[in-house]
This record gives sequence, C-alpha cells and structure tokens, in this order.
Amino acid sequence: MKSAVNCRESLSCGAKQPVSSLVLAILACTMTLNLHAQTFYPAPASESPQSWFASGQAELQRALSQTHNTNRAKNVILIVGDGMGISTVTAARIFAGQLEGSAGEENSLAFEQFPAVALSKTYNTNQQTSDSAGTATAMMAGIKTRAGVIGVNQYADTGDCQSSLGTEVPSLMQQAAERGLATGFVTTTRITHATPAATYAHTPHRDWENDSLLPADAVQHGCKDIARQLLEFSHGDGINVALGGGIEQFTPANKSDPITGRPGARQDSRDLTEEWASRGNSSAFVWTKAQLAAIDLSRTQHLLGLFSRSQMDYAYDRQVSDTTQPDLPTMTETAIRLLQAQSGDDGFFLMIEAGRIDHAHHAGNAYRALNDTRELSDTVQKVIELTSEQDTLVIVTADHSHSLTLGGYATRGNPILGAVVGNNDHGHADTAPSLAQDNMPYTTLGYRDGPGFAAEGGGDPRYMIPVAPGRHDLSGIDPTHPDFHQEALIPLESEGHTGEDVAIYARGPWSHLFHSTHEQHYIYHVMRHAYGW
Ligand SMILES: [Mg+2]
Ligand SMILES: [Zn+2]
Repeated sequence: MKSAVNCRESLSCGAKQPVSSLVLAILACTMTLNLHAQTFYPAPASESPQSWFASGQAELQRALSQTHNTNRAKNVILIVGDGMGISTVTAARIFAGQLEGSAGEENSLAFEQFPAVALSKTYNTNQQTSDSAGTATAMMAGIKTRAGVIGVNQYADTGDCQSSLGTEVPSLMQQAAERGLATGFVTTTRITHATPAATYAHTPHRDWENDSLLPADAVQHGCKDIARQLLEFSHGDGINVALGGGIEQFTPANKSDPITGRPGARQDSRDLTEEWASRGNSSAFVWTKAQLAAIDLSRTQHLLGLFSRSQMDYAYDRQVSDTTQPDLPTMTETAIRLLQAQSGDDGFFLMIEAGRIDHAHHAGNAYRALNDTRELSDTVQKVIELTSEQDTLVIVTADHSHSLTLGGYATRGNPILGAVVGNNDHGHADTAPSLAQDNMPYTTLGYRDGPGFAAEGGGDPRYMIPVAPGRHDLSGIDPTHPDFHQEALIPLESEGHTGEDVAIYARGPWSHLFHSTHEQHYIYHVMRHAYGW
C-alpha cells in the first residue's frame, strides 16, 4: 500500500494542472518532501515480449552446448570480494548499469557470465556468522577453522600462541611455490590483513600484523608477526608478487615511510621493504603507481608493492583524488604479466582481493561498497582478457556476506541508491517517493545494523542522516551521495557480517565441480584437483 496521500498538509506544492486528487496529493508530497530530484534510468528500448523469449531461448542453447572442461589447470586465480554477499552483487550490477545510463537490472557483472555458479556455506568452526580470517583459511588451506585465526586449525585457541604450535596448515600458495609454480597476490587492503595473510602466514591472531602487536607470551613461544612471515616465506622460489597497502607494518619506528613520512610501526628496527629489495637485482620494491608502471616485468622475479600507509583508498576516493595508488585492475594486470613471464610452462597461482567492499559495508556506506564491487568486475574483465579458459581456472567468490538489503518495490530503473519510487495501480512509475507508515520516504538499500541507525554528528547535512536515532526524514537529503549512510535497524558502531551463503562463480578447467551448495573449504579441494595434484 502506498501512503503518499497521507502527506502532511501544512505545506502545499502549488501544482497548477487539473489532476485527480490522488495525483495532486502525490505531487504535494513531492514538493513537501523536497527530495533530491530523482531520475529513472530507462530500460533498453530493445526489450519486448519477443526479445525476452529469444533471450531465454539463447540462454538455454548456451547451457545445452556447455561441455565439461577437464583440462589440467596450468593456472588458478582465486578472486575474493570481501563481504560481497549476493545482495551486494545484485545492487552493484544495477549500480554499474545505471552508471552506463541504463535501467541496470538487466546488466551483469563480468563474473556473472561465468558458466558455473554455486553456493558457499561460510560459518567458522566456532562461529555461525564468520570472519575473514577463518574463511580465508578455509579457502586457502582446505579446512574450516576458528574465526580470527589464519593458517592454523581449530585446535589453536584464538590469540594463544602456545596452543597454535603444530596446528599450522599448508596454504595452497605455499604448496604451489613448492611445486615450482609462480605465486602471488593482490589486494586493496593492507597485505598483512586477514584475507591475503591466509596465502602465506600462520598465526592464532589476525591482528598480529607487525611485531609491536605481538603479546610478550607470543614472542616467548616463537610466534612471528604477519609482515615478517611474508618476508620469511621460504617455500620454492618465494612469493613472486605481493601488491596492496600497509607500508607501516613493514617500516621500523625509527624510520619514516616514503608515502606519508611518518614513522613505521615496527619495534624490531627491521625495514622489511629494504630487506625485500636487497635480495638481488631481480627483486624490487615500489610504492607509487608510476614506479609500478616502470617495472620491467621480464626481469623482475620478486615484486613487492605497498601503496598506502594502511588500507588502500576506496575506488571512489582514488577516482576523485590525484592519488599515487594504482587501481585494482592495474595491479592485477601487472601481477598476471609478471607471473606469466616468471612461470613459463609451470603455471602460477594468484589470489586477488577486493578487500574494501567489506569496509564500506562496515561503515554503513553502500555507495563505496557497490563502487568497489564494480571495480572488482572490471578486474575480472581484465583477468578474462589476459588468460585462457582452456588452461586457467578462475574462481570469484566472497568470504562472507553483509547485511545490506535491497527492497521496497521500487519501479524499474529507480536509482539503486535513491529513495523508493514505486509503481501506481496501473503498474507505471509513481511521481513521488513511496512513504512508510510514519509518512517518511525510505531508500531501496538499507542495513540490518550499523551506524545508519544514528550516524555520527557532523558532515554535510544534505546527505548525512541526523544524529537522532531511529527513522529519519530524508527531506532535503540526497541518499545517492557517495557519503550517505543507509538507515539501519540496530545501532551498532560497525555494521556486521551476515551468515547466509555467498556465491561462487567459476570458469575454466573443472569449474563444473561448483554445482551445488558447498562447504566453503571445498573451494580449495577443487583448486587442487584442477591443478592435477
Ligand atoms: Mg579481506
Ligand atoms: Zn568485515
């Protein structure tokens, strides 16, 4: 039921056309609410009953002509959208389509055209709704484990070094290196953050990213910080490429990092970037996108790139600022070209993470989450262009979901970040936002919990939700602004992960083994099988 006619009567809109009372009331509401003008994005003009039928037939023919690719995978690329739940994928596909000027619902992201799709159960051994450390370990080492731990099994207690000794599980990247494959990873987070760390590190606490964060008893029992483990990764030829953020974890406190000029976080006086670069003239360390572009990939066997002090910027902030940070597609292209040059016939393993989809969701900020998902789609497109499905298994998945939801019966092509404008009784778009029982409009996107219940004070009043908790009158607020925080039901400082399944999309050798509802650690077993190990 629309409640547009319940619009407050103290303000009038001055509509002059002779219209029915219902429409007049809606127009009055439009003016009263003074919402940021919303345009509908048009559906493609080619849509017709015939085109729907034909596209269904074409899709059927594609499915019928699919054959199982049982080639041995020379290369495996695991791509993780951190926190990229299914609602995020749906919203991001609409967002990306609308940026191209189309309604958006009919759009698909690059990985949505992969032939194999399945579901992944993401719980940890001790947690119904999982975290990124336990889930990354599941994907990289083939077993479920506790939340908060990396590269160790469930018998390690979180944060207890002694209990973790002997529980280390070998990661797929470690095994690939030992078998002579080229290896590496790319992320938009700190390279010591949970997801990338699971490719190379073993620790009972994801927060032990540099030595200043290691408790005394952990040092005493011989646990090493995550940044140091990256440097000391000694399997095979070592890590060939590691690109992302977090230079402070690698820089000692008595030295300033070259990006911000501020002292590093390390207490052991080791400059790990210098140690990496001094391993010989085939090793290189870079910290700007210009340096990355200048790297001679045929000669560089070990490339470390750290482009920010902590996490890298969101794609939106990189786009609007004059940044020295490369984007994810560029880092990915560099990594693949380097790995191809290094591996020859032996093949490679690469993990790619769009790690900040998760952070934008935690902040209750759908714009940046969707825009980073769009950048992940561009990254997958780059992967498709640079690899062959004959010899490269590409998997795109998420480690866990987030509480973003998408609803409200918006009309086709309604801005995905906008207030809901529904359809009238004849199924055509209304002219004013739908109103809730409290006579206030609402957005299509919202969160179950997080800061959107009562946003922090300050900020631009045109797009910030006011400080008072509960529902907010969005009059005069632009919910499509990149800094808008979607409303949330439960007040939490940080919006949280959610426990429903996430999707797995795959193409290339043995991708058809993703066919059902799978336990998350099954992903590892398919990768190993595809390699023929
Ligand atoms: Mg992550
Ligand atoms: Zn998270």
